Order: sequence, then structure tokens, then C-alpha cells
Amino acid sequence: MSTIIDNIGLLVTPEAELANAAVLIDDGYIAWVGAAASAPAADDRIDAANGCVIPGFVDSHSHIVFAGDRADEFEARMAGRSYTAGGIRRTVALTRAATDEQLLANATRLIAEMRMQGTTTVEIKSGYGLTVDDESRSLALASTLTSETTYLGAHVVPVEYADDVAGYVDLVTGRMLEACAPHARWIDVFCEDGAFDVDQARAILTVGIARGLGARMHSGQLGESGGVRLAVELGAASVDHCTFLSDADVDALAAGTTVATLLPGVEFSTRQPYPDARLLIDAGVTVALACDCNPGSSYTTSMSFCMAVAVRDMGMTPAEALRAATAGGAAALRRDDVGEIAVGKRADLVILDAPSYVHLAYRPGVPLVGRVLSGNVADVRAMAPGAA
Ligand SMILES: [Zn+2]
Repeated sequence: MSTIIDNIGLLVTPEAELANAAVLIDDGYIAWVGAAASAPAADDRIDAANGCVIPGFVDSHSHIVFAGDRADEFEARMAGRSYTAGGIRRTVALTRAATDEQLLANATRLIAEMRMQGTTTVEIKSGYGLTVDDESRSLALASTLTSETTYLGAHVVPVEYADDVAGYVDLVTGRMLEACAPHARWIDVFCEDGAFDVDQARAILTVGIARGLGARMHSGQLGESGGVRLAVELGAASVDHCTFLSDADVDALAAGTTVATLLPGVEFSTRQPYPDARLLIDAGVTVALACDCNPGSSYTTSMSFCMAVAVRDMGMTPAEALRAATAGGAAALRRDDVGEIAVGKRADLVILDAPSYVHLAYRPGVPLVGRVLSGNVADVRAMAPGAA
């Protein structure tokens, strides 16, 4: 089954932005890209109505297996209270008390939101269970929604281990890892004041890597902790937040293979200074943008919102923001089959109701996603909730 998308006003490919373009999809993959005038024949046709066609967004950082919300904390922060990592424990208590059905229903609702807004690949972390059973069930549920699942037992030290952090690290690297690894592709650590220090992060990631998981890290959200350099040293696929960076951190990122994933929804929602994307890009660092959807510090599923903030306040051009939200996210997940419109890639495409992707930042908050194709699915927005 082949489909031609034609009448594309602007097509964004890795090499160039093409006007009057067409894309041929064959069996869920991109088979041809070029000028509409020379488009090959196909079984089916989609008219892009002169809109812009971009890759589906790759949201490489989310925490959508949880219960409850923390709107009251947001309201208090906007009134002047500061953010601390401790609020995570509130969501942990609610998540532990929820049924599998409740957790899956909430995550499925958020996946549907993401699809409506053009996201075709999403990573999902555990981290609101923090017991062997609650972490493994969170990952088992997440794995029904995506192949990009991340074990984040080291999100925060749970209250019952407040006086025995070493004991909790032993659990995270021992029985909890064994229970979670079958459901996870990645392992992550929140390396920050109030969560886990560099030595604990090193111990946790090293054991996870030995167990066959890929490494990722949260660091530099609230201050410099040395976690960014550790992530690069361990060959982590991505280090996420990167709001507070030393010169040595930037040098390490530029010399290494670790993607710097920026999460501007967090700074928006916690009223913190935004990360300096311009500094990172100029230093040669590969940068991704992601939503970090979670009920505490960033309850958004909108990649175009993140792009708008990145352009408005982080020094990115609209083209750089789009690349970070697509190919950047793919790099952060070490995926070479998504994030770009090129022959051989998955047919994950968004047709915008706008002549250019610039409108995603220029018209913030406006629903400009006209159609979302993913592989063999002609419009994921019409998919039943929970269908993969
Ligand atoms: Zn996060």
C-alpha cells in the first residue's frame, strides 16, 4: 500500500526546505521525497492543502504514569513559593494508592493529548512507585504504550528510606532493577540536591548499564552537581534539564556523544531561568527539546509550546527548535528511524494548518496540527485510546 502526500507548501528535510513538494509513503516508511511535479504514482493520495509538513515530534522525556495532580503547588509557586524536589513524594503516595486501570487510563489520556499535538514517539519513565512492585508495574503499564521505557527508581528517596539512603540505593540497584529491567530499555537517575548525588548516580547507572540498559540522567535543573560530566563520562544517551551548567559541563557535552535535552516547560512552570540553548548549540552540542510531562514541574504535552519558549527565551531559531523537537529527540533516544523526513525513515509526519513551521512559535497556543501520520496509520488523532 503506497500513499503520496502532495501539494505540500513547505517540506522540512534534513538537507533543505522544499517548496511545492511531495512525499511517497510505502508500507509505513518514506520511499521518495521530491518536487510535487515529479511525484511517482501511488495507490492513495493525501492533499496537504499547501501546508507545511514536518517530522512527527519525538518527545524523549515524560513521566506520565502517575495519579492525581499538583495544581495547588503550581498556584503557590506563581504566588512566590519556590520549587523543591520533595513534591514528588506527594505523587508517589497517590500513585501507590491507584489501581493499574486508573494509572493506565491517565497515561492513555496523556498519550492521546500528545498525538493530537503531533507527537509520534514518546519516552515514558517510572519513578512514582519507588517500591519493587510499584516501579515494575509502572514500567509494565508504560511498555503497553511505547517501546521507549525508562526505569527511574532513583527519582527521589522515598519517605520510608529517608534515614537509609544507602539502603535505598541498594534496593534500586538490586531487587528493584531485576524486577524492572525486563520492562525497560533505559535507566535514569535524578542527580540533584535533594535527590541523588554524583557517587550514588554513578553506582546506579553503572549497575544498570551492566544489566543491559541504556543510561540517561536528570541533572542541572536546580544547580550544578557534576552530574552532567558523569553522564558524558558514562556515555549516557542524554542528560536532561541542563539549565545550570559550568564551562566544564559545556566542554564535556561538546566533546562527548551525550545529547543535552532541554525541558523549558519546567522553567515555565517553576519560574526558573531558562537554559541557554544558544550557548550549547554554538559549542557544538546536540540539543533536544522535550516536554517532561509530569504533574509537579511541567504538566504540558505540547512540543510546539516548548518550541515557542525555546525561540522566545532560549536563543533558538525556529528551525533549530524544530530540529531539537524531532531529530534531537531521536538522537536522545539513539533512534535513527524517526525524527527526520528522509527515504527509509518511518512515515511519522505532521501536516500543519500553516504555511511554515515558524508559525508553531509565532502563533503560540494555537492548534495548527492538521493531520498526524505514523507508520501505517493515516491519522493517529483518530486512533482509539490505548491503541499503539
Ligand atoms: Zn523528568
